[in-house]
Amino acid sequence: MPDISEHEPALEKNYGDWAEYFASLGEPPYRAAQICQWIWKRGVLNASDMTDFGKKLREKISETIDFSFPEISGYVKSDDGTKKFLVKMPDGTTVETALLRMGPRLTACVSVQAGCPVGCPFCATGTAGFERNLTAGEIAGQFIVMEKAAGRAINNAVFMGMGEPFLNTEATLGAVRTLNSSKMRGLGIRHVTISTVGIIPGIETLASSGLGARLAVSLHAAREELRNELAPSNLKYPLKDLMPALRDYQRFTGDRITIEYALFKGRNDSLTDARELARLLHGLHSYVNLIPGNGNRNGYERSSPENILRFQSVLKSAGFESDIRTGRGGEINAACGQLKNPSARNHVPNKVLK
Ligand code: SAH
Ligand code: SF4
Repeated sequence: MPDISEHEPALEKNYGDWAEYFASLGEPPYRAAQICQWIWKRGVLNASDMTDFGKKLREKISETIDFSFPEISGYVKSDDGTKKFLVKMPDGTTVETALLRMGPRLTACVSVQAGCPVGCPFCATGTAGFERNLTAGEIAGQFIVMEKAAGRAINNAVFMGMGEPFLNTEATLGAVRTLNSSKMRGLGIRHVTISTVGIIPGIETLASSGLGARLAVSLHAAREELRNELAPSNLKYPLKDLMPALRDYQRFTGDRITIEYALFKGRNDSLTDARELARLLHGLHSYVNLIPGNGNRNGYERSSPENILRFQSVLKSAGFESDIRTGRGGEINAACGQLKNPSARNHVPNKVLK
């Protein structure tokens, strides 16, 4: 029986927690479904607006549940329809999230940590340091506040904002469950993608969770030495261990894996690099997403369009499916690797969100 005197955060509760909560109040189980609908489908965040509960029950809920929620405190919009939001957590910690528009579909790019401890040298988040892990509710809450701001349903969630999902695995998977649960947000699991720099225990946990979210792995290099530089987590989880872990993952789940490879001039974009990548991925059912490197950080510059196409043609002739990711939101720094611990200087205050 939960101790309802604790003032528990609404966002951290799953359907089962709500069922227990209402049982402790002597209320029927369908109340759990009702409150989940209010919060996760309608974005209503205070008990007094939950009109299908009687006055007494609303008061009881208000007294015992903490409805604090992430808040959008600013946003920037780019010409291609991408919006970057500055989201403030109840304790004042801020993260950035992005809402990407591809045709009629909306994709929420959510953050799992404030900052990131991995420290990839080309990544704005990684070079800005690490503040803290976000909770499951703070992660899933970003999706809901963006959905409210958009005024319509968001179709996909990608865990590609700030931070490394598998250095915060429990909260990340908790957020995926909340978004996916038909009793809560009800987002199809095939519309959820988790991007990792290659933290092996998290990849194993995702496989054994049976959740079915899609996996993307940021590789960026096919040689240990080069990868140690580009993705320092490689020192702990080197390619020689990561690749067998990905093969195991695939055997276990049967899923195709997306490989992300950001291309930087003269660093990892040669023909040799492309051939090494093709060799490394041999036999893995994968889809290679080539990301033109963003920004100009620590001497990392974007590869030329010719080099990117040349790199892609090596992969294609080796039989790999590959795409060049269009740099959405580049001009507002909402593109990959440009979300950082924000000073919010370039955000406009949150007045009109559409
Ligand atoms: N930590 C996770 C998820 C967040 S980063 C990961 O690394 O996968 C999301 C994606 O943006 C990753 O593929 C990352 O490598 C890429 N990225 C980071 N900085 C970038 C940059 N400057 N240019 C292009 N892609 C970048
Ligand atoms: Fe962290 Fe991913 Fe950025 Fe590397 S690329 S620093 S793992 S957020």
